[in-house]
Order: sequence, then C-alpha cells, then structure tokens
Amino acid sequence: MQAYHVPSSAGLLKLDAMENPYVWPEELRQKWLQVLKEVPINRYPDADAAALKERLRTVLAIPDYVSIMLGNGSDELIQIIALALARSDRTYLAPEPGFVMYRLISQTVNTGFCGVQLNPDDFSMERTAMLSAIEERQPALIFIAYPNNPTGNLFDREIVLDVIKHAPGLVVIDEAYHAFAGASFMEYLDDFDNLLVMRTLSKSGLAGLRLGYLLGKSAWLDELEKIRLPYNINSLSQKSAEFILSHYEVLADQAASICRNRKELYRQLSETDGIKAWPSAANFILFRTLGLDANRIFTGLKARGVLIKNLHGSHSLLQNCLRVTVSTEKENTVFIDILRQIIQSYH
Ligand SMILES: *Cc1c(COP(=O)(O)O)cnc(C)c1O
Repeated sequence: MQAYHVPSSAGLLKLDAMENPYVWPEELRQKWLQVLKEVPINRYPDADAAALKERLRTVLAIPDYVSIMLGNGSDELIQIIALALARSDRTYLAPEPGFVMYRLISQTVNTGFCGVQLNPDDFSMERTAMLSAIEERQPALIFIAYPNNPTGNLFDREIVLDVIKHAPGLVVIDEAYHAFAGASFMEYLDDFDNLLVMRTLSKSGLAGLRLGYLLGKSAWLDELEKIRLPYNINSLSQKSAEFILSHYEVLADQAASICRNRKELYRQLSETDGIKAWPSAANFILFRTLGLDANRIFTGLKARGVLIKNLHGSHSLLQNCLRVTVSTEKENTVFIDILRQIIQSYH
C-alpha cells in the first residue's frame, strides 16, 4: 500500500482540498476565544459529546427517530463502519471514479472492494451496472457520495433508491458536500433499515476541527458505537462546533456565497478554450483539458503559485482531468487568469 499523500501547499494559493476560503467575522472570533478559554483541558472530553449532538439535532433539524454518531472527521466514520463489517470473504462497493478513502480503507480492514464504473460522459450512475454488480458481489457495504467527489454531480435519486432497495447490506450516503447541494437522503432514513447518512463540517469551514457525523437508526449506530474510541472528539472541537452551530447563519451565508462563485467559475471555465467543465453541486469543479496535457497545466499552475488537484492517472475516466476548489471571487479570478495564460502559451 501507499500512505495517503498530502502535498505541501506552503506559499501556494490552496485550491486543492475543498476548504472554505472565508474566515469568521472578528467579533465572532473573539467570542469563540472566550468560549475556548473556559474549556477544562485537564479533563477528558465528554465521551458522548451530548451537548454538541443536541445542538446538531436542533440546528440541522434532525428528526427524533434518527440517532447521531460523531467521528474525528467523516474519514474516521468510514473507518469505523468498514471495521465493523470487515471480513476477508466480504466485499464493499462504491461507484468510481469516487472518493478514494472507500477503497483505501477497505484494503486496510482486509475486505474486498468493487468499484462500479460511472457513465464516461457525464459521470451519472448506471442503474444496470450498479444492480448487476450488487447481484453478483452481494456487497456487505455500499458507499455513495452525494454529490460525488471528484465529479461533483448528484446521482439520479431514483437510481440511488433502487440501489438501497436491492442492497443486501448497509448503504452509506456520504453527504460531505451537503451544504452546497440542496439535496439529501436524510428524509429516507425512516423508510430503510439499511441506510445511513454521513456528513462533515469540513467543507463548511471547519476542516481543521475534524468533525463528521453519522445519522441513522439506533439499531445500527449502537453497534458502531462499540468500535468508536471513547474520546475521539476532543474538548476544543466539541466546544468550537457547538459555538459555531449556534451562529449557523454565518456558515450558511458562506455556503451561499460559494454557490454563487461556483456558478461564475463554471461559466468562466466553460468559456475557456481547450477546457471542458462539468456542472457541480459541490464546492469544486471537475474539468478536462482538451488536446492539452493536464500534467503540464497542473505543473504550470503550481509554478505560478496555484495548487489544484491533478486527477490524471487516478482513474481511466479521468484522463486529463483536474479538480479545482471554488474559492472567493478574487481567488477564482487569479486561478482562471493564470489558467488562461498557460493555455495561451501552448499555442
Ligand atoms: C472530504 C470528504 C470526506 C472526508 O471529510 P472529513 O470529514 O474531512 O474526514 C468524506 N467524503 C467525501 C466524499 C469527501 O469529499
């Protein structure tokens, strides 16, 4: 195996990891520091993070029949679920190209993994391909990122519902980009006993905090709790998340700005010669360089101080593909200007 590699971003405009570019207003930061000052850091955290869960339930309108489990980022939740169901004669399944951690974590828990290819043109989910892979492989666990990373699209709801109905095991809908998508499977949690919904605060401006949450019926979450380490969410994260959730409008406004900027960035990318961009329901945009080597574009951007994600070589459907995080208007303009200069210098 290879360890998950995080490239150095020192001195670069960081548009590679779907971080929120906005900071909180100064007054709010001061209030936050007051809260942190009172945290008893000599004591272990609340192992249940009860106050934080209550705050999440209220602010995000999580229904009473849904239980909540917290993870140190949703990556940890993926690991916990994968550990809970792991057996060397089992298979986990996810559409691909998709989020790389599903495959990586399946390997670490010594369980098989089946990637089901998406439609090469628009990265939509193909009903027949998914259902026949499910029939054949009988996966104990299916991950579906909604919207998908790195392609940015929302899969057809009816097809996903069909997948949930036909799955012999658990289905996790990973809504990491929920804040930008305006679509969710939370409303279906009551209808299916094999469904869990996972989200994270990372893409909403709290990537440094590491807080993911899993929603589902207690029959599942009570079992998964047996694997969670008792103090996985530290006191500073708990109090910080509680604090910002009580000012949720700040995060919601930032998400709304990012959605406006996404529209503009998508337009600019689409109007750029030699670029094909795909529409996105997330805070990033996937694009392909046409007749140009994406490696060269990536390296050229980096040499001029802009770091994005190079996906060329990561999957056969992602030839000459790059992914850029939607940032502030100003940073998006810096990116698009440099990108256009590099493309011009080709001719
Ligand atoms: C970023 C991302 C995650 C991981 O989020 P963390 O909460 O920061 O661990 C999970 N799933 C998808 C699809 C992502 O893009």
